[in-house]
Amino acid sequence: MQAPGTLFVVATPIGNLSDITHRAVEVLRMVDLIAAEDTRHSGMLLATLGISRRMIALHQHNEQSASSVVIEQLLAGQQVALISDAGTPAISDPGAQLVAQALAAGIRVSPVPGASAAVAAMSVAGMPEPGWLFVGFLPARAAQRRKQLGELASLPHAMVIYEAPHRILDCVADLYQVLGDRRIVLTRELTKMFETVHATTLAEAGTWLAADPQRQRGEFVLVVGGALPDTGQDASNDQLRHTLAILLAELPVSQAVHLAARLTGQRKNLCYQTALDMQQPQTNSRE
Ligand code: SAM
Repeated sequence: MQAPGTLFVVATPIGNLSDITHRAVEVLRMVDLIAAEDTRHSGMLLATLGISRRMIALHQHNEQSASSVVIEQLLAGQQVALISDAGTPAISDPGAQLVAQALAAGIRVSPVPGASAAVAAMSVAGMPEPGWLFVGFLPARAAQRRKQLGELASLPHAMVIYEAPHRILDCVADLYQVLGDRRIVLTRELTKMFETVHATTLAEAGTWLAADPQRQRGEFVLVVGGALPDTGQDASNDQLRHTLAILLAELPVSQAVHLAARLTGQRKNLCYQTALDMQQPQTNSRE
């Protein structure tokens, strides 16, 4: 009996074509069949790479039936690559059902890692949290979106959120409304010509986006800071005072307050009050 083939899950670039890996090219060249989210879109990438292979469409509307066809091919000994339009398949993209079927059938599944917008964004977010949560796309409807954010609000992990340009303003407004003020790093068009990485706070993110329609265009990944621990009030106060102490030693109050708000994610008013408080002569309790 013919040994089954391997299902290779192959990452493709999220913008810059040079981000394709050597191994991805080797595997795409070697396989018998390529399952692609959009065969026309991926056909262009393959043409650029000088690769011509049999293809089958596997997208969110036919994943179940297309997966069965692919599994038959694998069981018949064919080597298959799975690709999506951009980035890593099965990450907010079709592919998980095919992979699950292959695993259930005892077929070898092998990753060919490469670009993923979530990891690319996280790598430039500078979030100190020990762990992060991949949220992917939040629900399109505001009520559901806010409900899901409410469920995530107490988690200490940084959150990685995918968002479409037509919802970016609403999404950022809801993030602020539900999570309060936190750090956010807005990343847009990563690896492309208009790549943007902007670190700010949820209180200021909407204004920054609204200030220029160009800033609302393209593909977004938002990285949002996690909830502070339960003792957050004290811990965040300590952090604010520590930050202000350093900044006030070098800068005028207004600049120190502006920077402290951006660095700590605290409201400007609070930073200002704390700065004033810190500048009062301290009362010595023994006096
Ligand atoms: N599987 C892909 C991956 O591994 O990143 C994600 C596919 S998901 C359908 C598409 C979303 O990923 C976009 O709406 C955007 O949120 C994000 N994305 C994809 N490419 C991006 C890029 N170059 N810059 C920023 N975000 C990107």
